[in-house]
Amino acid sequence: MKALILEEMVSLADNQAPLKLVERPMPVPAEDEVLIKVSACGVCHTELDEIEGRTPPSRFPMILGHQIIGRVVHAGPRATRCQPGDRVGVGWIYRACGQCFYCRQGEENLCPEFQATGRDAPGGYAEYTSVPQDYVFPIPEVFADEEAAPLLCAGAIGYRSLSLTGLKDGENLGLVGFGASAHLVLKMVRHRFPRTKIFAFSRTPAERDFALELGAFWAGGFEEDTPLPLHRAIDTTPVWAPIVAALKNLAPGGRLVINAIRKESADQKALLQLDYARHLWLEKEIKSVANVCRRDVAEFLELAAQIPIRPAYQIYRLEEANQALVELKGRKIRGAKVLKM
Ligand SMILES: [Zn+2]
Ligand SMILES: [Zn+2]
Repeated sequence: MKALILEEMVSLADNQAPLKLVERPMPVPAEDEVLIKVSACGVCHTELDEIEGRTPPSRFPMILGHQIIGRVVHAGPRATRCQPGDRVGVGWIYRACGQCFYCRQGEENLCPEFQATGRDAPGGYAEYTSVPQDYVFPIPEVFADEEAAPLLCAGAIGYRSLSLTGLKDGENLGLVGFGASAHLVLKMVRHRFPRTKIFAFSRTPAERDFALELGAFWAGGFEEDTPLPLHRAIDTTPVWAPIVAALKNLAPGGRLVINAIRKESADQKALLQLDYARHLWLEKEIKSVANVCRRDVAEFLELAAQIPIRPAYQIYRLEEANQALVELKGRKIRGAKVLKM
């Protein structure tokens, strides 16, 4: 099969083609796994974190990609819940231990043995992949393959982030960064919390216009003061300065949720601007988001189908994945990026 592999960690600034197209043997599913013929795979910012070593693959070479849509072509003898022909999706959660304190409470995202698709096991930048049957999700019929792919990470982790904010209808919500995940959160909020005003922050005018088109109440640059205080905010940027700026706009008792697996170090000095009285006092809270549970993915897919949420996306061929990653880093295109096999 054709696959794109990452052989070592590199900086995208030095190497604009970190993934190499190769022929690989077909994966052989274990007893509890299903073999999936991949039809679409979303491109996520986390791939940049893997390539540049902020959350490196657990081994090399690795096939990246964790927003996978495809059809089951073969099920192992113990994978009896899936049939050949089923259309399924795979997200960031590849497997968790199922036994630990966190897994027993359904918080498998915090499991110390959490394994991620495309980081700890081969992912979807390939024609085929093999995944445990307990970690695949049926895809609602209303979605085309390329529409469903970004829902699996950008959407599911956006759903988890939104839940962690504790937003109530009518409270003001800030979206700090306006990429694939934030635009799906905006659509969710407009449906579930119709009285909530959304404040979108982005460094690019194109993304700010996009947010306003989708119904944001206000859009501006990271440093700007919002016309109203924010009760809740979600940060999806890879850097630090927007967090400090967002805390300044947070209302007393407000909560900032940071939806990022890693932060880049280039502007870490921005944290020295943190002023306790201005940014943190009055019971402001900061909380991070880690991974996703199966429950997040399943609940979000159901909600997305009900609304329905149709992500804005841009299609690339498998061979164009490097270009998609470079453009993602440069924030060139709005919405989500999807590889179509
Ligand atoms: Zn992702
Ligand atoms: Zn566990």
